[in-house]
Amino acid sequence: MLKDLVYHTPFFCPHLDRATRLCAVYERRFQANPRCLSVERGIERGVFPADCPYVADRPGYRPPVENLDFFGLGDLARQIARELGVTDEEFERARREALVAKGGGGAGGE
Ligand code: SF4
Repeated sequence: MLKDLVYHTPFFCPHLDRATRLCAVYERRFQANPRCLSVERGIERGVFPADCPYVADRPGYRPPVENLDFFGLGDLARQIARELGVTDEEFERARREALVAKGGGGAGGE
């Protein structure tokens, strides 16, 4: 989150088990990750997608912008990544992966 706007980023919390999609430190999540939000704070900040059961029937709930081209944000993407503690190497790796996923990143391609 930067300047009260919510961005979807390709950077996962290091405590997320991507295979199970569960938190690996759930019982001590707020100690393990000071940025971890309670459900209440998450709703307040608008971090859940519109179809999330926590917010799906909540009147006036404003979800984050979906399908954002995160790396298309340019310098702002880098600024957000730095705020999240993402290294330049991790940033570049994720940027290349996003390019490949979009079909624009072949070996030696532009
Ligand atoms: S619940 Fe919190 S600590 Fe656990 S994976 Fe999600 S953001 Fe990270």
